[in-house]
Amino acid sequence: MSELAAAKRVVVKVGSALLVGPDGAAHGAWLADFAADVARLRARGQQVLVVSSGAVALGRRRLGLGKRALSLPEKQASAAAGQSALMRAWEEALAPLGFTCAQVLLTRDDTEVRRRWLNARATVETLLGLGVIPVINENDTVVTEEIRVGDNDRLSARVAQLVGAEALVLLSDVEGLYTADPRRDPSATLIPRVTHLTPEIEAMAGGANAQAGVGTGGMATKLEAARIASQAGCATIITLGTRLSPLNAIEGGANATVIEAETNPRAAYKAWIAGSLAPAGALTVDAGAAAAVRRGKSLLPAGVRSVEGRFDKGDAVVIRDEAGREIARGLVRYPAEHAARLCGLKSDAIEAALGYSSGPLVHADDLSVAAHAGTPGVAAAAPGA
Ligand code: GLU
Repeated sequence: MSELAAAKRVVVKVGSALLVGPDGAAHGAWLADFAADVARLRARGQQVLVVSSGAVALGRRRLGLGKRALSLPEKQASAAAGQSALMRAWEEALAPLGFTCAQVLLTRDDTEVRRRWLNARATVETLLGLGVIPVINENDTVVTEEIRVGDNDRLSARVAQLVGAEALVLLSDVEGLYTADPRRDPSATLIPRVTHLTPEIEAMAGGANAQAGVGTGGMATKLEAARIASQAGCATIITLGTRLSPLNAIEGGANATVIEAETNPRAAYKAWIAGSLAPAGALTVDAGAAAAVRRGKSLLPAGVRSVEGRFDKGDAVVIRDEAGREIARGLVRYPAEHAARLCGLKSDAIEAALGYSSGPLVHADDLSVAAHAGTPGVAAAAPGA
């Protein structure tokens, strides 16, 4: 299984059942072992993000709510009380190995509304650049039922998409995807590798198997997460988290199901920019800037001749040459009225003109050159569409 070792960025989802012991307290021994597992990936130069459940499970104990079913406000109160305990547990596990962690609480809008998506991405990228391990959870305390992601399987897939991760590991209480529910059907066999998520594969995760596992998300939500990840260029690995050093174990051949990526993260992102966004405006650029953009370089204000349309920061715009031909599409870093003021300016004059600078008008990372414009396919599942 090569996906985990080959990934530059790995998102690991840790379920409540692993983190919280039967007594309702954090599982220190499991966390310490897992931290060592993470350290091994980091020593190979890989970046690791953790999506951790457990706030509600830890908080309900703190609040004396026992094991009964909780109302939504009680769950939210538990998450408020438990999230700090959860972070303390992660800090206690990671700090002895020299890692700093940072709490990132996301809502569904942060992964689906484009401006918030860009903002969340910038924050997480900054943390990763500083060598920090982001520990991410849903912001359960403020979300309402209608706007929740609801389970950390899907949240972790959205995070993988947000950061362009190549591998998503779902650590849970099952070994992987089986042909049927292994607790009921002795003939059930583990599927080690899924190349395409076909309806037949999805049917295996349905019915009785849908709820396999005690976490919020059964096998059906795991496959939904895998579909989001696959279309974003990220492979998903479903495996048992209770064994020692689970990440090391899967590289050593322990039981797991790998769901392959359909594309790579960069291609998925570029196809989304090219294909699924209705452009909100256009930038007409001079010949020098047009040549640079065709080579995939960032669009600087110096080469921009005119700005059309009413767009906001983060919106998709068309980039045209002076003959009016579309040469690229990209996500613009300034609102239209600011972009208009920047036309023809050198980059070091942006700050003086606007009082702030967000860098180039369209960064190379957020640019899709016209040869790919209109590419169908992965677009629909990409962020913020
Ligand atoms: N966000 C929830 C928590 O931290 C868990 C959701 C899940 O386990 O999928 O308790």
